[in-house]
Amino acid sequence: MTQSLAAIPVSELKGVGAALTAKLNNLGILTVQDLLFHLPLRYQDRTRIIPIGSLRPGDECVIQGEVKLADISKGRRRSLLCRIQDGTGSLTLRFFHFSASQKNNLRAGVSIRCFGEVRTGANGLEMVHPDYKRVESDELVPVEEFLTPVYPTTEGLHQGRLRALTEQALIHLKSGALQELVPQSLREGWQFPSLDTAVAYLHRPPVDADQHLLLEGLHPAQRRLAFEELLAHHLSLLKLRQKTRQKGAPQLIGTAELHQQFLSQLPFPLTGAQQRVSAEVKQDLAQAYPMLRLVQGDVGSGKTVVAALAAIQAVEGNHQAAVMAPTEILAEQHYLNFSSWLEPLGVKVAWLAGKLKGKQRQEQLDLIRSGDARVVVGTHALFQEEVVFADLGLVVVDEQHRFGVHQRLALREKGRNGELAPHQLIMTATPIPRTLTMSAYADLDCSIIDELPPGRTPVHTVVIADTRRDEVMQRVRNACTDKRQVYWVCTLIEESEALQCQAAEVTAQELTELLPELRIGLVHGRMKPAEKAEIMQRFKAAELDLLVATTVIEVGVDVPNASVMIIENPERLGLAQLHQLRGRVGRGSVESFCVLMYHAPLSNQGRERLAVMRETTDGFRIAEKDLELRGPGEVLGTRQTGVMQFKMADLQRDSDLLSRVKAVAGQMQDWPGDSDSLVERWLGRGEDYGNV
Ligand code: ADP
Ligand code: MG
Repeated sequence: MTQSLAAIPVSELKGVGAALTAKLNNLGILTVQDLLFHLPLRYQDRTRIIPIGSLRPGDECVIQGEVKLADISKGRRRSLLCRIQDGTGSLTLRFFHFSASQKNNLRAGVSIRCFGEVRTGANGLEMVHPDYKRVESDELVPVEEFLTPVYPTTEGLHQGRLRALTEQALIHLKSGALQELVPQSLREGWQFPSLDTAVAYLHRPPVDADQHLLLEGLHPAQRRLAFEELLAHHLSLLKLRQKTRQKGAPQLIGTAELHQQFLSQLPFPLTGAQQRVSAEVKQDLAQAYPMLRLVQGDVGSGKTVVAALAAIQAVEGNHQAAVMAPTEILAEQHYLNFSSWLEPLGVKVAWLAGKLKGKQRQEQLDLIRSGDARVVVGTHALFQEEVVFADLGLVVVDEQHRFGVHQRLALREKGRNGELAPHQLIMTATPIPRTLTMSAYADLDCSIIDELPPGRTPVHTVVIADTRRDEVMQRVRNACTDKRQVYWVCTLIEESEALQCQAAEVTAQELTELLPELRIGLVHGRMKPAEKAEIMQRFKAAELDLLVATTVIEVGVDVPNASVMIIENPERLGLAQLHQLRGRVGRGSVESFCVLMYHAPLSNQGRERLAVMRETTDGFRIAEKDLELRGPGEVLGTRQTGVMQFKMADLQRDSDLLSRVKAVAGQMQDWPGDSDSLVERWLGRGEDYGNV
């Protein structure tokens, strides 16, 4: 067996010393394999000599001709100008830096061959600092055989160097060292070339290669690599899932008693979608291996009730349930919901957040440790080591896309004595585009609540420049006169919470002056929890007409009579966040409005984003659009970005590969050795995935 290319450090290549190694490492190139996977950004065509007469500005090409005139110009910048001619036309070469010998070389009468970009100069077409060499006019100097690769590089590392290095790496490749790991039987019917052919092709494409496809990343050779990378990624998540599954979990069998009581005290029947998803969860919880289920549902689709039903089943099955939310406000809201639902049924609910200190905290910790608390609601404070559960059987993570895979794993480790793992129910705040579900969450089963509770009316969204603030005020006044309530959301770039709160304070004051007949309240993240709660309570009780708020109300606020929302500077927020915010209205039966009051000028993307908000209230469509406009890293949140960085693949461009990736990954279970090697090839041995 040939030595794995991943085991050969680049420093073993000829001519690679310490300094060059360091530069290559900067590019993420540590091994010969890395070098082979370091693919060109684009290509130059140096395979043909182009007649000067046919050149256009912007062309990048090889020309050959005789020097007619070479002179130093003393214009604004001293430069060497050299006029060359080939019988079809003439062109100027311009050098700002040149040596005496260069000048000597480029004298009238000699023939040279140049490569460079053509642009329009003072006296017709010119090339600035072209690559050039002298040739004899009648001699047949061969041009390049292949398209010339242009690699991503770093300072002080020239293309020529990278080309020479990849040349060496390609020799290793020829010795068959980059093994095909996808079994032959699974490659049947593929349109892709083999792995080594694809790699060799991309480093040195033939003259007739389709440059357009290559630039778009749609060439079969590129698709081959993207496929394999996505496959490796998918396999790593399946491995993670398998490891979890092997652990075993407590079988949580519902007795239906609490379940029935809970449902009968709810003021509404479950929707069909809630029933279906709850049934899926119910079945999972009864298994002897951990549930790994993602529940997606649009804002307001009623995910909390589904979570509560799962928690109840854990309690009925004699285990604790932990419910985790990403912010204190949301955790608080869940705590209020869960305790008001469950305590009447005799189920003790504990509460834990970072801000809880001293004796109160200790009390809660004791309740959790002793097992007196059957359900525990909190923020990521639940991860802390001092938190010990008596018999944790279920973890519900709300608003998953703010937590990373690693945090999810940490909570899993809280499971009883390490042998049994708790079941995991992951709820997303907003829908996740399908391509991301298929890639970033491939380790999870997925349920979708695709129905909103009845009686909701879609929110009308209008996009207005803030120069029309007066009209907006009037609209607010009218709504309040009609006994409706209004949110006024102040946004600022999130880095500074202090500034955001300040802006909200200023706005609240201004609105109080301009709308003296209204009762106006203010909430922001820097207020004491008790103050916040009190204002929210008053707004809920309709003792306030208008609530000025920062984006803290994004999640967890539920006031059905509030039917108008003004969002200032919506162009600063992501689509998912806007959708969340807007989900605060449209909860009652009256017609609701959302006014996106932007500050001109809008960027093109900004305009497009606001247009999406105006056109649809469908969270799934908004999520797709968000992905298209901002990319997976942003959509999943920064903590996940590491997970979603691909070398070759682009989730959007290559989304059509995903279903095949999924199918092949499923079948690769029969080739565990090759699966492991694939993951190692693309994600490395040290990746967290493999080690959990
Ligand atoms: P989300 O999915 O955004 O977390 P919530 O669980 O907060 O949604 O539910 C939104 C609102 O809808 C809450 O006021 C909740 O009480 C209500 N709700 C949930 N399920 C139903 C239902 N089946 N019928 C009517 N209202 C419901
Ligand atoms: Mg929710």
